[in-house]
Amino acid sequence: MSAAATHTERFLEEIRREFPSFRLIHKRDDRFSRLIDAALRVVTLGGQREYLTRYHTVIAGRLYVPACWDDEDDLDRVIVLRHERVHLRQSRRYGFIGMAAIYLVPIFPLGLAYGRARIEWEAYTESLRATAELRGLDAARHPALRAHIMKQFTSAAYGWMWPFPGQLSRWYDEALAAIEAESSTGRGAAGYDAATP
Ligand SMILES: [Zn+2]
Repeated sequence: MSAAATHTERFLEEIRREFPSFRLIHKRDDRFSRLIDAALRVVTLGGQREYLTRYHTVIAGRLYVPACWDDEDDLDRVIVLRHERVHLRQSRRYGFIGMAAIYLVPIFPLGLAYGRARIEWEAYTESLRATAELRGLDAARHPALRAHIMKQFTSAAYGWMWPFPGQLSRWYDEALAAIEAESSTGRGAAGYDAATP
């Protein structure tokens, strides 16, 4: 194993300690993932075509990773894993059926999937926090990151799950302000709940 994989491997170990049955699966080798890919292309009218190549997905305690996983930057992978660990914890909190009900069922109707938006918002807040911790506050404040995260909610990526940029902007500002406050006080994430809508 190369030295560059160290942060990723260490964080994967941390996840396995918390979730002993955790497995990491490459989507390209997985028939189930190819089926989901085909279904997503249909329900988003071709708007989501990158399920196999760009997106990381937690289902039933497993993390399915896209083709580019092995080539991604070490710290970027840790940031992704911090986001996905939130979904693992949500699955534990809500149970697999509960999570599926919140996450998958609201694909119908597209566009107003509030439960899914909340679940993703909690996870993207963690992406933002991980970016601040691993890359610095300036990276977390970068407009390109903001645009990227906002787009996940408003575009076909997740079936137009929360197409309300004004409200998203407010969530984003609150989350960023709270993370900035955490980093200035050294308080860390404990007790922080301001970013959930
Ligand atoms: Zn997510």
